[in-house]
Amino acid sequence: MRVALVTMALRVPTDPSQWITVPPQGYAGIHWIVANHMDGLLALGHEVFVLGAPGTTPASPSVTVVDAGEIEDMHAWLNGPGASTVDIVHDFSCGQIDPDRLPAGMAYVSTHHLTGRPKYPYNCTYASYAQRTQAGNDSAPVVRISVNEARYEFRADKDDYLLYLARISEFKGAYEAAAFAHAAGRRLVVAGPSWEPDYLARIERDFGDAIELVGEVGGERRLDLLAGATAIMVLSQSTMGPWGVVWCEPGSTVVSEAAACGTPIIGTPNGCLAEIVPPVGVVVPEGSSFTPEQARAAVAELPSPGQVRAAALERWDHVVVAKQVEALYHEVIAGRTWS
Ligand code: UDP
Repeated sequence: MRVALVTMALRVPTDPSQWITVPPQGYAGIHWIVANHMDGLLALGHEVFVLGAPGTTPASPSVTVVDAGEIEDMHAWLNGPGASTVDIVHDFSCGQIDPDRLPAGMAYVSTHHLTGRPKYPYNCTYASYAQRTQAGNDSAPVVRISVNEARYEFRADKDDYLLYLARISEFKGAYEAAAFAHAAGRRLVVAGPSWEPDYLARIERDFGDAIELVGEVGGERRLDLLAGATAIMVLSQSTMGPWGVVWCEPGSTVVSEAAACGTPIIGTPNGCLAEIVPPVGVVVPEGSSFTPEQARAAVAELPSPGQVRAAALERWDHVVVAKQVEALYHEVIAGRTWS
């Protein structure tokens, strides 16, 4: 099958002359999701066209990186001769592509990766049941975020730190992760871009002794931090998120990434986390009022690295998930639609 994968086209914030690639240079969950799904499709023998990420290095001869990042350029390519042999478009752009502007009869499926309603619900899949419910839908397909273990390092011997790896924002629970680490008497390595200086200052003021700020990470540093952590903290909070709705963690890329490294998750029940954390970690309440006893008990209850990786690969291995998506592609090509 020939599949056009459309990522969300974004420029690198620190160097707008470059597009965020697949996989990304730094922080960018959707681009990692597309990279892992592409790996799955390639493993199943499919051919892939990548749109929205000019500058991407093709992962194999079966990958064509289309030089289209601007929204109009992506629509033009999808309506031009290059797309005439494509069997299906899988759109991860979260609304940049308008399905009504595709050629008549072109098979199309999208995946929503934000909180709230998708701009175009037509043939949209979701990363969790919670995300789907918040979008007002109760029957569209749910497809989990996949992970290619070859892109990560498994480590059974963990170092003595907890990890926060996300944008440093209220709805992602950086403050609560620092509060947890403080209560547990552990060091929290905080990695991620920070666009809300007051919020970061509050974390430093209240828990400066428990945290180590390392900024946004990519490449080997990101892999090393993921593999070495005692656990990763994913304490998403039901607070107002960036799209004008209460934050409901949609799919959580870091959960499958960490779990592939054998790194367990300490997560809240927010959004998808209630569905995906139990087999690979422990669930703790939202908020920041952890007692030392509670925090230490949660760390003591964590599953072993071997259990975590096995549970992750059983559920979210890139080939396992790509087979589910491949079946869906066949149904859509045969005419299945939903909204
Ligand atoms: N990430 C990264 N560098 C950082 C912080 C995060 O590469 O400094 C990556 C992380 O590994 C994950 C993505 O950014 O792949 C964040 O995606 P997630 O779904 O976890 O969060 P969200 O997209 O909601 O911010």
